[in-house]
Amino acid sequence: MPQSENPVDSSSSIPPVAEDFADWRVQMANLVDSPGALEARSGHAIQWSSHCDVAGRRFGMLVTPYYASLMKAPLEQDPIFKMCVPDARELTPASWLTADPLGEEPQSPVPGLVHRYRNRALILVTSRCAVHCRYCMRKRKTSEERPYELDLTRVCDYLREHPEVDDVILSGGDPLTLDDFVIETVLTAIRTVPSVRIVRIGTRVPVVLPMRITDALCSMLRRFHPLYINTHFNHPAELTSEARVACEKLADVGIPMGNQSVLLRGINDSVDVLAALCSGLLAMRVRPYYLHQCDLVEGVEHFRVSTAKGMDLVAALRCRLGGLAVPVFAVDLPGSDCKIPLQQPYVTAQTDCATVLRNKNGVDLRYPEPRELS
Ligand code: SF4
Repeated sequence: MPQSENPVDSSSSIPPVAEDFADWRVQMANLVDSPGALEARSGHAIQWSSHCDVAGRRFGMLVTPYYASLMKAPLEQDPIFKMCVPDARELTPASWLTADPLGEEPQSPVPGLVHRYRNRALILVTSRCAVHCRYCMRKRKTSEERPYELDLTRVCDYLREHPEVDDVILSGGDPLTLDDFVIETVLTAIRTVPSVRIVRIGTRVPVVLPMRITDALCSMLRRFHPLYINTHFNHPAELTSEARVACEKLADVGIPMGNQSVLLRGINDSVDVLAALCSGLLAMRVRPYYLHQCDLVEGVEHFRVSTAKGMDLVAALRCRLGGLAVPVFAVDLPGSDCKIPLQQPYVTAQTDCATVLRNKNGVDLRYPEPRELS
């Protein structure tokens, strides 16, 4: 882990780009793309190990100036720093970690389209992101250097040939890093496929580049309902006033907002952090949807939390928060045709007469089953 040579006081943070900070294109033109560049921007010397540089070269590094500005000293303990700055531990070999942990490549019948679940298809519209998350399960794509190409005609032809697909998810990369006219072109093409009813967009932009959520973007998106957005907040430090404005703008044009977090060691593996995150999201009109067990992608061993601890955390969350604020804790594995929920067993016995359910205090309660009416 990089160590700061010159710890700075906890009120200091990394300054944003001075001019046009509120313009998302300026943000994208000034991405911090190396540990050295982050050091230069922060003005604080950070002692990087040579292995951090290697990890950065292997998996890439990108941070928006806005997101970097949220980092607080001491940096090595800051959750945002840890989520986007290369770490020597990413190079720790582990045979169970792979480049394509969900086996997406063999299930990509058309370039840019993944069809793993019967009625859902994923369209990887870009490999570009505003931030390179260290734990990303698709880093094999996001760290690609060659230009990404999406053959929209072939993608739509495939969807027409597979009318069982009624739910399409735009992902990547981050779809909302594309210009409005590109997003509009993709959505218009998808809406020519009669069997597609639901369109979802997976994006971390409201978290790392909230100024991208412009009025023009929202006006365009609202034409493609039913449209859902699942965003990706992991820590309450990300719930800024800028992020709130972005999420509320999207909600105001009728887009239901959900959030998918990843359970990450040293970032959000505590009940207090998860409770603050989930209740804060709900207050921003974003429904906590999934808490994902970390996918088995290379470079994440130091982030992984045991499934048992994750189940305990979510059980504790359920005691503390209303049901609307509690996400489903789940794992995605190749070979499964859906995500698999991970939860402590609530049903302790089941017969034709009754089901016995264990409540949060460990007390067993009996629910009688319906009787045949004579
Ligand atoms: S924004 Fe999403 S796709 Fe991009 S690196 Fe982060 S997790 Fe991966």
